[in-house]
Amino acid sequence: MRDLTNEIVEFIRRTSTDLPQDVEERLKAAVEKEAPGSAARGAMETVLKNVELSRKNSTPICQDTGTPIFYVHYPEGWSTRKLREMIRNALVEATQKSYMRPNAVDAIYDKNSGNNLGGEEFPSIHFEEVDADAPLTIELMLKGGGCENVGAQYSLPNNGLGAGRDLAGVRKVVLDAVQKAQGQGCAPGILGVAIGGDRGSSYAKSKEVLFGKIGERNNDPEVAALEERLTDEANTMGIGPMGFGGQTTVIDTKIVGMHRLPASYFVSVSYMCWAYRRRKMTVQGDEVVYD
Ligand code: SF4
Repeated sequence: MRDLTNEIVEFIRRTSTDLPQDVEERLKAAVEKEAPGSAARGAMETVLKNVELSRKNSTPICQDTGTPIFYVHYPEGWSTRKLREMIRNALVEATQKSYMRPNAVDAIYDKNSGNNLGGEEFPSIHFEEVDADAPLTIELMLKGGGCENVGAQYSLPNNGLGAGRDLAGVRKVVLDAVQKAQGQGCAPGILGVAIGGDRGSSYAKSKEVLFGKIGERNNDPEVAALEERLTDEANTMGIGPMGFGGQTTVIDTKIVGMHRLPASYFVSVSYMCWAYRRRKMTVQGDEVVYD
């Protein structure tokens, strides 16, 4: 089995320092909506300048390089134990090269491991087997702490918000989450919403859905319409970039549905900041492609 440690280091570098094109384009479009000379426009221009400099200088887009979350789709017959080792070694090297800030802090002893490794759960690595002749694909998301702090989970019905167990109720709680987040999730943000599941699976799914491209819609027309409506309505709240007020609070919303127990109806909202770092690498034979 081929050693991919160096290729994964490069993958981490790209993810941490080079914002995906679809995100950058949406941020550029958002600048034009803000009034000249406004704090919102100034914040967006600074964000975009920062994106440009980070790419040019190969430095992290944000000082918080986030929680590394990997999804590995491995061909039948590959060793997940070896893949895990490669990813962990690559992360240590990427930290030494300052592509990543040491971010793994033991919560009980308040001690930073210094190398981005911590127990079995840091980094978070999910494995899924695919056919033997399919390529190996690794997806990586770097999820910022500030935006993670403003994520929210609701158990419906929620009488306080008048939210029942239907899409109308989902709309109410998602808008409540955006209202409560204000600018603290480093708006403009992207909303990942999971409906259903249990508390754990629902939160995990609300992050998974964020691997999709900006503008990709749910296959169900009713859910797709709600995605667009939530983005539009969030942008009428006046929260704006970094909470300075303005036109753009959310640049996209993605919703995924799950099965649930009859007793439960969870809605989980993962808020992703403007530093929407998520990329994919594909390995087939000797060829490695970075998206
Ligand atoms: S929430 Fe995002 S943009 Fe804000 S500090 Fe954290 S990683 Fe950076």
